[in-house]
Amino acid sequence: MRLFKQWVVGLWLMIGIVSISHATDDKDISVRYDESNQTFHITHCFMFAPDYVESNENQIIELTSNMQWQSKAISFKRGYAELPEGESGCVSYAVGTQINGSRRLKQQHPDNVLVKIDHLLWQTSDHHERSLPKIMIHHSDRTQVSAPWEVISRSEKETVYQMKPTPRYSDGYVALGPMELQTVRLGDAELRLAIMYGSYQQKGELIAEWVKAMAGSVAQVTDGFPLKDIQVLVILIDGQRGAVPWGQVNRAGGAGVLFVVNANKSKEQLFSDWTAAHEFSHLLTPYTPNDRWLSEGFASYHQNISRLRSGLLDEGTAWSKLLAGFERGRKSASQKNAPMLKKSNRRNIMQMYWGGAVIALQSDVALQQATAGRMSLSQALAGLHECCLESGRGWSAEQLFIELDRISETKVFTTIYHQEVLKNTYPEYQSLLESLGIKKNHYGEVSLSDEAPMAKIRKRISKG
Ligand SMILES: [Zn+2]
Repeated sequence: MRLFKQWVVGLWLMIGIVSISHATDDKDISVRYDESNQTFHITHCFMFAPDYVESNENQIIELTSNMQWQSKAISFKRGYAELPEGESGCVSYAVGTQINGSRRLKQQHPDNVLVKIDHLLWQTSDHHERSLPKIMIHHSDRTQVSAPWEVISRSEKETVYQMKPTPRYSDGYVALGPMELQTVRLGDAELRLAIMYGSYQQKGELIAEWVKAMAGSVAQVTDGFPLKDIQVLVILIDGQRGAVPWGQVNRAGGAGVLFVVNANKSKEQLFSDWTAAHEFSHLLTPYTPNDRWLSEGFASYHQNISRLRSGLLDEGTAWSKLLAGFERGRKSASQKNAPMLKKSNRRNIMQMYWGGAVIALQSDVALQQATAGRMSLSQALAGLHECCLESGRGWSAEQLFIELDRISETKVFTTIYHQEVLKNTYPEYQSLLESLGIKKNHYGEVSLSDEAPMAKIRKRISKG
């Protein structure tokens, strides 16, 4: 759900926090936020300096000032700042916060900041060879910090993280300001929940319950939540649209999920919204930046399967939603389509999302057939917990399908990839649904039949 991303990116604001600091440990990064001029002050120290530091995004160039090496000014041009390679010392710089973004969010959270990691930190040229640094964030005691990195320690005025690997071309966010911090536990997984509550300070318990229900339903798919430690950032607003007008999954610095929630909606409206089940379902697969049909398709499939298995949807409703999605995708694919599913992108949103969801269903069914029910898509995805989800890198669909074939000891995934994803505009689903016993009557209602040849497979998908 990244199409409205511009709306939230770089949202905002300001506040601050202060305390003077300097990084003393080699390789560590120290950050303090200066409230008076809404600026972050960053110091990154090295035992052996890299050749240069570079910007991952252009915006940080405009936001950066006062770059120094060992307290002497250095210049940066076209996104690079040369350092005395191999020397011991510290590079320091100031980074302002972006003032563009949503006016309403700024109004509702005047004391919070939300910054993209690539708008906060310059990256070392040799970061692939260096061990990942710790990052110490200094702040006032009125401020909490939420970041995707692994928490080492928290105190009133200092939050210390161990940075985690970042796949290329991925985003991640750091939030500061008054927030309610909670830990939501699902088995041995910890979801570090931060709620930017604004004027809804009483909603913490409800939001935690909602996050637990939605993440818990995804945990049902693979018998355990896919990741052990993630950032969950919830921004409460007073708005007009649905209960969850925005959600996105982030991968930079570790996995993170961000939701904007309309806090004026009822509990029922919140719990019946699909967004959170969709975003948490993204975490069932690793980051596939160049195969969005896979990540969006598998998330669109599992947003319904997860809610069905956890009882948030009944069987008829879940299959109706899937069928309605498959139809929307086919209709849009028949009008303005990419020549094959693999090539679908943001210009072919419905083809990409729902064509990918049909592929998920096809592989679920084919896998159960090939293994006489010993293996399902859920079980194959559960195998990714061990090998692939925390690899901190991007994957291609082909690489991931080879991995799923290895886990399932079949050729189901690569066969579907070559026969459907690389060949068809939109995969066939009608006869598949019919053999599963899913049919639409004249009134457009979906009915389920237990007499159909593959009704047993449908039941296994429904129950997990
Ligand atoms: Zn999505």
